[in-house]
Amino acid sequence: MEGNMMTTLNLVLMGLPGAGKGTQAQKIVDEFKIPHISTGDIFRAAMKNGTEMGIEAKKYIDQGNLVPDSVTDGIVEERLSEDDTNAGFMLDGYPRNIDQAHALETMTTKLDKSINAVINIHVDPAVLVERLSGRFICKNCGATYHKLYNPPKVEGTCDVCGHHEFYQREDDKPETVKNRIAVNTKLNTPLIDFYNEKKLLYTVNGDQDINDVYKEIQKVLRAI
Ligand code: ADP
Ligand code: AMP
Repeated sequence: MEGNMMTTLNLVLMGLPGAGKGTQAQKIVDEFKIPHISTGDIFRAAMKNGTEMGIEAKKYIDQGNLVPDSVTDGIVEERLSEDDTNAGFMLDGYPRNIDQAHALETMTTKLDKSINAVINIHVDPAVLVERLSGRFICKNCGATYHKLYNPPKVEGTCDVCGHHEFYQREDDKPETVKNRIAVNTKLNTPLIDFYNEKKLLYTVNGDQDINDVYKEIQKVLRAI
């Protein structure tokens, strides 16, 4: 893929909480230079800033439930209306249910865009609790680490930006994690069927080394 031959990448990254969406998104963005649109990140920024939307979203996020579609769909449509998405984009964590998938279709049609691949990172739910309980994030740039599986190269220093402060997500507490995985597992199968029928679905094995997961993703992206 080079020069004018390059297809615009309009991607959806799917996977249960902890499957590795954020981790792989960092790599995709580095290589393919497309905006990373994570609804989870947008909600966390709004909560941090104490906006009305953030206060509303917090009620659901703290319980591990989904924020209502009426809020989430609007945020995504607004973001996809920005000019930087004309050269491609990657949605991470949206859509998360079948109604959101329909809403996405309506909004992309309206905006004269179309999704060209849905990458589903498949991981057995049994390993997700351990992944999420060991996750920590750079306070400055949002890079994601794991205390066992993906620690920073230099302990206490972010590989990406060099900062030294990290945090754990409130909703990564074991009780919230269980509900998040249950809620998302139930909603995941209809979404997989939906994109499979449209021949947009590419499933990669997320239960292997982070770099090997990325190699599978690269293969998919280079083929489209
Ligand atoms: P998601 O965005 O899908 O919720 P993350 O990318 O934040 O998931 O990954 C969840 C946790 O698992 C993080 O701590 C991350 O460092 C770790 N992780 C990501 N991919 C892998 C992998 N292939 N093997 C082991 N741990 C991983
Ligand atoms: P994430 O960072 O993707 O794990 O998302 C964190 C939380 O934000 C989720 O548990 C939901 O409460 C909320 N959220 C993120 N994306 C969506 C979405 N597409 N629909 C509804 N809620 C969402």
